Amino acid sequence: MSERKTLQHFIDGKPAEPDSGQYFASTNPANREVLYEAARGNAADVDAAVRSARRAFEDPRWRDLSQTKRGHLLRRLGDLVAENAEELARSESLDNGKLLREMRGQLTTLPEYYYYYAGLADKINGDTIPTSDRRVLNYTTREPLGVVGAITPWNSPLTLTTSKLAPALCAGNTVVIKPSEYTSATVLRLAELAIEAGFPPGAVNVVTGFGVEAGQPLVDHPALAKISFTGSTATGSRIASSAAGRFIGSTLELGGKSPNIVFDDADVANAATGVVAGIFAAAGQTCIAGSRVFAHRAVYDELLERVTERARSIRIGDPLDETTELGPLAFEDQRDKVASYVDLGRSEGARVLTGGQATDGGLGGYFYEPTVLVDVNNDMRVVREEIFGPVAAIMPFDTEDEVIRLANDTEYGLAAGVWTSNLARAHRVAGRLEAGTIWVNTYRAMSPMSPRQGFKSSGVGVEHGTETIREYTRLKSVWINTDEGPVPDPFVLRS
Ligand code: NDP
Repeated sequence: MSERKTLQHFIDGKPAEPDSGQYFASTNPANREVLYEAARGNAADVDAAVRSARRAFEDPRWRDLSQTKRGHLLRRLGDLVAENAEELARSESLDNGKLLREMRGQLTTLPEYYYYYAGLADKINGDTIPTSDRRVLNYTTREPLGVVGAITPWNSPLTLTTSKLAPALCAGNTVVIKPSEYTSATVLRLAELAIEAGFPPGAVNVVTGFGVEAGQPLVDHPALAKISFTGSTATGSRIASSAAGRFIGSTLELGGKSPNIVFDDADVANAATGVVAGIFAAAGQTCIAGSRVFAHRAVYDELLERVTERARSIRIGDPLDETTELGPLAFEDQRDKVASYVDLGRSEGARVLTGGQATDGGLGGYFYEPTVLVDVNNDMRVVREEIFGPVAAIMPFDTEDEVIRLANDTEYGLAAGVWTSNLARAHRVAGRLEAGTIWVNTYRAMSPMSPRQGFKSSGVGVEHGTETIREYTRLKSVWINTDEGPVPDPFVLRS
């Protein structure tokens, strides 16, 4: 996939040219080379994709397929993802600058998501309800919703698309995906693999293009039954309002400004590694980035020294090189956004202990040095707002109560890290932190089995695990009267 080519939408099981006839270029952020041109989607393309998905949803080949067979298709798709892992890993690395070895790691676990939902497909069932009338059989079923719209960002397109696609298909829906304009290639390839796996044409569609031109028409399409979105809190809020106005559900995975807390009883060497993993892995372009680091005053200097020393030694360079530790930001505006936040931090009084400079990485790309800010506090914008880059703000604290208050003093609630050797404290602090995922003595761990949910402005609804099936099904309650006698008094409510 490294040579330049033209990518079409993927609608009804095959490539589809854009209604507008227009394409846009996608660039390798490590060296600014144009990788490919992708179809510039508009409302007409979205309409074609949603119609195809709706036809597929109503087609007996999909509608009447047994749940066991849906599981088989998901398993096959997982196998195909595994068989094409290297190609997918390289393609995504070129597209968004993620390290190839990080992508290879993601591709090792990605098939597991399909296998997990393959196993779950024939375990979606309702209940029988013991109403007070024993002559009535009351049971519930969990039905698919219809056409699900999935809108995903650029930082981990394959994984974040899979978090929606696998459970949506598992539950019997069909899907239209609008990937970020910066990362169309791997999502299109995933849709091809789904058809190769045996999903019927129209079950998985992709419309590429820009948020306003292709994303918004998808959210607003009258035949859409559900929207599942991962991206910024600002866009998520607009999408939730549109969905609510039409009474369709939305699952939203949004931004974060996660605290990573190091207590004085922690293994400081391990905690420093956890801090580095939390903010410098993936160049800080993860929703779960541990961007606010709180260190107990007794270990503050040691932690600072360890993190700063490691930050200075991080190898910046070509994401395809196995020895590189920090790749570029995904595109020029993102690099400029990071740079302007660090400048803002300086003007707010923060001190840059290391980093603080944009660089082209010797390749002409959009790199930014791993940066540590100190002399910062919770009132500064650089501590309150999501930067989405390799910028850690490190602050001291004195007591457990104080750090819990500081950690929770944010509009976000996606994740939090706690480093301690005190078991009681681990449970106590985990219970009091306002975040959907808490990691103790680890950071940035994820599994298809483990549900996750953003608190506060970080999201609505659950992804992963069995819980997410509720997001992609609706409940029906069926009452069967088995009494052959006369129907009782019509003016009295029955139970
Ligand atoms: P955006 O919200 O800008 O975009 C996300 C997606 O929405 C893109 O596909 C985008 O298209 C599309 N979009 C933009 N505007 C609209 C619109 N009006 N209607 C419909 N779709 C639209 O986020 P980013 O791509 O910048 O991603 C970074 C954000 O994602 C960060 O805030 C990060 O925290 C969050 N994120 C959250 C995760 C989580 O699980 N909680 C995981 C990963 C990231 P286009 O690209 O063309 O604008």
